[in-house]
Amino acid sequence: MPSWQHITYSDEIAAEHAGSIVTVGGWVQEIRNLGGISFIQLRDRAGVVQVTVLKKKNPELFKEINSLQRESVITVKGVVKESKEAKKGYEIIPEEFRVLNAAASPLPLGVVDKVGADLDTRLNNRFLDLRKAEIRAIFQVRATTLAGIRRHLTDEGFVEVTTPKIVAAGAEGGSTLFPIKYFDKSAYLAQSPQLYKQNLMASGMDRIFEIAPAYRAEASDTVRHIAEFTSLDVEVAFIESSEDVMAVAEGIVHSSLNHVAEAARRELDILGVDLSSPETPYPRITYDEAIDLLRSNDMEIDHGEDLGTEGEKLLGDIMLKKRGSELYFITKFPTSLKRGTFYAKRDDEDPELTGYFDLDYRGQEIVSGGQREHRYDVLVEQMRENDLNLESFAFYLKAFKYGMPPHGGFGFGIERYVQKMLNLSNIREAVLYPRDRVRLIP
Ligand code: ATP
Repeated sequence: MPSWQHITYSDEIAAEHAGSIVTVGGWVQEIRNLGGISFIQLRDRAGVVQVTVLKKKNPELFKEINSLQRESVITVKGVVKESKEAKKGYEIIPEEFRVLNAAASPLPLGVVDKVGADLDTRLNNRFLDLRKAEIRAIFQVRATTLAGIRRHLTDEGFVEVTTPKIVAAGAEGGSTLFPIKYFDKSAYLAQSPQLYKQNLMASGMDRIFEIAPAYRAEASDTVRHIAEFTSLDVEVAFIESSEDVMAVAEGIVHSSLNHVAEAARRELDILGVDLSSPETPYPRITYDEAIDLLRSNDMEIDHGEDLGTEGEKLLGDIMLKKRGSELYFITKFPTSLKRGTFYAKRDDEDPELTGYFDLDYRGQEIVSGGQREHRYDVLVEQMRENDLNLESFAFYLKAFKYGMPPHGGFGFGIERYVQKMLNLSNIREAVLYPRDRVRLIP
């Protein structure tokens, strides 16, 4: 058995294990020296255990331990002993004590300090920030969310794919592309797998998804935009309308919220979050209805304008108050607002409208998608309207000529989802090492 498998986590030990020998490993959170006896609070990923060292039993060790700095890494092999004083009802009396790595002092970021550090200091020292249980819990919830999504989509017959992140052309408009050097050519970091997932719809893989980074050179500094985010992308063929696509998004959110509420109960407790999965179907309002609602709530906004952060937030409050829902679809976005989205299918009766939708969660867009235009001639026309160079999209267009079924899909921002699920004020809190206009390290 590898040595790491000999480590017992603190939550695996209980007072009834009294008398047995365990090995625990972790960081020294605190040392209290009372002269003849020292109490070490050893923190591992599951919690904290008390290690009690008696001077008279081992004076050398006692000296060494009391000179240790906080956050040093130790392993302790010892006997579990019941203790009324120790928080957990037991303590460990060491037989073997190893200092694996001594920490320097002072720490660039406190681990147990009550005073909250600002986000920049935390992110600059992320490895220390993550030693706090409530910060690690965010990423455990994130992992549980992804596991729930993968399970749900796999059960629904979707196949997970991986498409290139180094691409020759963008799909979401030029202003947010990151150019890169690619041997003797110029290329970009992928803004979304849009062209590839549509390409796959012509391949017979008619239900696919991808969970991968997407890159956007977002110039503005907001609490919901980052330059590298994790995008869940879904594409499904043989659909009749955007409603079929919305049903997939709804199913993912519903089942993953249920999964997280159940499987990440411990982490949600640590974070003080009471999570529930609202009943489906989620309410649907059209873009025009959303604008009317905002206007009747004193917001200055005209039909045809983007809802913007403020509009989405206010709409979130209204939908919660009036419809009792934290999750709702905004449908029928005007073509003018999705002009960059050359692949969106327009309404058959009114080309000024698309069947495109957003799914908003607690006043923030988390998903955007709809039915795509699958007819070659119409697509070419829409690309021309958007002044696109058709040659750069040759591989994409080719697939529409030789048997492309009607299809649709969406992009779903994982960090925005986790941000809203856990009521985090900034999306960066849901990213281990965020990238934005100013942040490239760590
Ligand atoms: P927004 O209007 O909020 O900037 P968008 O319309 O550019 O978003 P899409 O291109 O439709 O977004 O992307 C689909 C989803 O991807 C969004 O709903 C969001 O969850 C996520 N997303 C897009 N851009 C970012 C970003 N810069 N940072 C984090 N998530 C993003």
